[in-house]
Amino acid sequence: MTRVREPRIVVIGAGVAGIATAHALQQAGFHDFTILEKGSDVGGVWYWNHYPGLTCDVPSQIYQFSFAPKADWSRIWATGPEIQRYHRDVVEELGIVEQIRFDTEVASAVFDDDTAEWTVATAAGEVLVADFVICATGILHNPAVPDIPGLGDFTGDVVHTARWDDDLVTDGRRVAVIGTGSTGVQVVSALHEGAASVTHFVRSAQWILWAPMWLPQIPGVSVLLGASRTLQDAVYQLSLEASGILADVVLRQSWRRRAVQAYARISLRGQVFDADERAKLTPDYQPLCKRQVISGSYYRALRSPRTELVTDPITEITPTGIRTADGTLHEVDVIVLATGFRAHDYMRPMRIEGRGGVTLDDAWADGPRAYRMTAIPGFPNLFTVLGPNSPTGSISLQYSAELTAGYIVKWLERFAAGDVDTVEVTEEATAEFNRRVAEALEPTVWNTGCNSWYLTDAGTVDLWPFDRATMRRMLTTPEVGDFSLTGPGCGATVDVAQSRS
Ligand code: NAP
Repeated sequence: MTRVREPRIVVIGAGVAGIATAHALQQAGFHDFTILEKGSDVGGVWYWNHYPGLTCDVPSQIYQFSFAPKADWSRIWATGPEIQRYHRDVVEELGIVEQIRFDTEVASAVFDDDTAEWTVATAAGEVLVADFVICATGILHNPAVPDIPGLGDFTGDVVHTARWDDDLVTDGRRVAVIGTGSTGVQVVSALHEGAASVTHFVRSAQWILWAPMWLPQIPGVSVLLGASRTLQDAVYQLSLEASGILADVVLRQSWRRRAVQAYARISLRGQVFDADERAKLTPDYQPLCKRQVISGSYYRALRSPRTELVTDPITEITPTGIRTADGTLHEVDVIVLATGFRAHDYMRPMRIEGRGGVTLDDAWADGPRAYRMTAIPGFPNLFTVLGPNSPTGSISLQYSAELTAGYIVKWLERFAAGDVDTVEVTEEATAEFNRRVAEALEPTVWNTGCNSWYLTDAGTVDLWPFDRATMRRMLTTPEVGDFSLTGPGCGATVDVAQSRS
């Protein structure tokens, strides 16, 4: 397509999704883009999270961009700081640092029906005008602070893991950790060696798959991979294919799912020998129903005489400690909130106003809802990367982000060709997509009766219930009939969806 104009693009967020988007734009020859990033560096979740023990439980050879394979990961499961450095290195290599504005929080994005432009305002009062807005704002961004009576009265230190204070001293102190997701398990494993004591408050036990997370990358692998980009690409592709087993076990009932679930039970039985403690640590739901926790050190940490497991419900926090339902006051110096995120608060708290002044808050009054993770009816020329229904529990996020960014580029190309001025997914296509999602979620393990951050307030599972091939099919070539388009190539304001029906 011959290009007659250059789209002005604002990308919000410089984490995994934002970097994947920037790369896709660059590859397609779109250079008029600005990335607005609230933090002081790139990396998103890897920038904000720097709690002790932070490690990625996805192997590094797949937890990376396809376009920026790293040969010399130090460990099979890399640490948070190494992953954060990787993101920095990638943006430097891409040469896009200049296009990122750090410490820049977006306050609002408003679509003008007459000019078909977006006006993006930052919290500092700066205004940018764009033809397209791409929200790459992440899923696990807004920390969930529990509403426990008395939390504000505690006289010691309180820290949420997602906003860790690097000056906080835990060594030699009595530490309470609330929460037993992937984060709580990692923090307890890391803090118990130096702290005077670690009391772990577990409201719902988790299944924890044992894995040797400390293993270095096999010697020689870095050298081999570093010597051949072809080999690196092949290893990446192989890892992607192999990771299909994860989607397979969570999406449908099979002997493979049962085998992984059996391994979860063995991981517990093989490491926790005390029957009472094992009973406390045995969840009342199926393994894999919540986001699976993986650790090779947590149960060992619990065996330490300095670590105590508390499963009695917390009733209140007093100035000196945490009281549980049995009346015990657990006196501590530090409370660590490993209580997770408000995972469905995509793009919040910014105000997003689409066609006819509809706000995202109104459009999503019943919970987040999009078409194929990326388009929202009522919001023309706005896309999300790793938006609602993203595959946080089954498929590589880098892969999903790159695929989605490539899909968005297809629309940008039509805009650049002067063919389309605005593109907006129809309500009908969105409803149909969500109907298919609901149907496909039925046999998934996420739907087997547990409470997890995958669930929205309405009780629906906010995940991708299809396999990778389906994702590829859905996000390779846009189905024009699913969109309302305006622009010269479509007649004055031809609604393609309506014109087809
Ligand atoms: P999470 O999985 O949502 O876990 C939050 C924990 O806090 C749960 O155990 C929850 O208990 C507990 N909790 C919340 N409010 C509570 C209250 N009022 N009283 C007592 N307990 C309370 O959060 P997360 O551990 O931060 O993990 C979130 C996600 O981040 C993970 O699932 C994963 O996707 C990602 N992550 C990944 C890695 C990695 O290695 N790749 C590492 C860390 C995090 P209930 O279960 O009873 O609600």
